[in-house]
This record gives sequence, structure tokens and C-alpha cells, in this order.
Amino acid sequence: MIQRIELNGPDDFHLHLRQGEQMAAVVLDAAKNSARALVMPNLKIPIRTTAEALAYKDAIVTQVPGTGFEPLMSLYLTDETPKEEVRVAKESGAIVAFKLYPQGATTHSSFGVTNLKGRYGVFEAMEKEGLVLCLHGEVTDPKVDIFDREKVFVDRLLAPLAQAFPGLKMVLEHVTTQEGVDFVVGGGANLAGTLTAHHLWINRNDLLVGGIKPHHYCLPVAKREEHRLALVKAATSGNPKFFLGSDSAPHSVGAKECASGCAGIYTGRHLLAYYAMAFEQAGKLEALADFAGKFGAQFYGLPVSDQKRVLVKKPESVPLDLDYGTEKLVPFRAGETLTWTLEA
Ligand SMILES: [Zn+2]
Repeated sequence: MIQRIELNGPDDFHLHLRQGEQMAAVVLDAAKNSARALVMPNLKIPIRTTAEALAYKDAIVTQVPGTGFEPLMSLYLTDETPKEEVRVAKESGAIVAFKLYPQGATTHSSFGVTNLKGRYGVFEAMEKEGLVLCLHGEVTDPKVDIFDREKVFVDRLLAPLAQAFPGLKMVLEHVTTQEGVDFVVGGGANLAGTLTAHHLWINRNDLLVGGIKPHHYCLPVAKREEHRLALVKAATSGNPKFFLGSDSAPHSVGAKECASGCAGIYTGRHLLAYYAMAFEQAGKLEALADFAGKFGAQFYGLPVSDQKRVLVKKPESVPLDLDYGTEKLVPFRAGETLTWTLEA
């Protein structure tokens, strides 16, 4: 039985780090679990320009001196993003992606894109510069059932986009459905998908059965068990189109446990242990290293990290809560005992 796993990197290609004292509360978890992370730009006031991204990167790096943690930056695409920004972003060397949120799809998405066709000039520029387009793959049409929003996004928006831009690298972020998996698998080499740890663990029953579980609420929302199984299969398949993107998204207890609770699950503290357990349960522990440390780097055109993280087979309890600035947050699987521990 495997007792020790050595991972290059790893790289987390989808992470929320917030700002100020909230960032200070979570960024060290990121630096412990990953060598590099693609930091999402959906702050209260989104990161829309290269200058803003560089300042945000500085603020992150300042919090974790001596760790070697490298934030990879992304810009928030809006209806107003000028195509000239793409070249500026590329030349900065710090920005690797633009993030597309359909307006209203999730946390802090009110600045998001309303007209995809209107963005085609920017996509052309990204294709030319080799920057990646990261997609929050859900439609926001109120007539579309929330459990179908990813599937409909793939049909209505992603399929035509992939056809129009066969050379544009695109990542369907946090895939949650069989249909999303199938589209990524069947697409060109320019198309990839990230998979979160929590979507490998929970289905919609974990959210809704036996009392509503606000700490299992995220977007895209967890789907049926058959979809969860499809995600586990994709993650552990060894297909280089799928790689690690945690979407670890901290919210205070108060923001989660209320009448209109925020979407987001905090997996940052024990991230690699959650993935290791999911891979182990699938009997595919040997597939973890490439998923976590190689495939994402390859897709983004980055060298595989020479940093290492080691997981050992040793029980570790997840605390009931963690400090989050002046508040608390509840981590994923709070109070439970995990079977893998990240070596200090
Ligand atoms: Zn996210």
C-alpha cells in the first residue's frame, strides 16, 4: 500500500485569495499546498487591468515571504475590456489568463460579460498572444434550471466559441457534469478542464438531504451522483486535459449561514489530502502527481515546477473552524479525520 506521495509543484489553476485580512488568513494555506496558483480576479472591485493585477500580485507575495509561492495572475473580462489590454497583459509576464464570468453567474460577477460576440476581438488577440481564456461555464438565463446551467452553457456558448476559435486555449473551470467532461474530452487540444476537490466528494444530496448544508453550497452547484462519478473518472483518467483547480473560496460563517448564503467551499487548508483521498478511493493514487503537478503546467505552457510537496499516510483532523480575519470560516469536511497529511 502506498504510504507516501511525492508531488511536483503542485499547481492550483483556480484559487480565490480575497484581500486584506481575509487574504492574510488563507494565503499561507495556498503556499503550503501549492507552488503556483492561478488567482481569480473577482474581488469586490474586480481586477480588470494589468496594473491592478501586478499590484494584487505584490500584495499576495508580501504575505508569504520565503515560501517561493508564485501567484499566476488573471484579468477579469468585461464588456469593456479593450483588446489592447491583451498585449499589455502578455508583456507583463505575470498574467497568464483572462477569466470570463457570464454576468450574475456567481460571487462578484456583476461586472461580467453580457455579450460574448462583442468580445470576439479580445479573443482574437488572446489567441494571437497565447493567453488562456478561463470560463465560468454556466448560463445565467433565469429560465434555465440551476442544475442544467453548465450543460446549457456548453451547448449554447462554449460549442460555438470553440468552433470560432480553434487556436484559443480555453479552460472550462470547475467542471461538474458528465456533459462538461464529454465536451472537454471530445474537443481539440486547445480545450481543457479543471476539477475541484469538493466536486469529487459531494453530490447534491450532500447539500440538500437531512437539512440544508450551507457549507456544501458552491457554484456550479454539486450535481447528481452519476456526475460526481464522471468527474472522479476524468480526474483519475490520466487524460492531460484535466488538471487541478481547487476553486477554494473562503466565506465567513456569517456569510454562509444566513437567509441568502454565499456560494463557495473552503478547501485551501487540506487541499492535497482531499484530492489524495478521492484518488485513493478510485484506486488511482498513481494518477495524482500528473493531475496536480504536470498537466496544468503543460497546458499553460509553463515548466513543471521544481518544488515538491509530500503527502504521508497519517490521520489528520480538520478543525471545526478556522480564523478568517476578525471572523471564522468552516473548512470542507470540518470535524472529520482525513487519512493523508501534508508533510511540513
Ligand atoms: Zn471560482
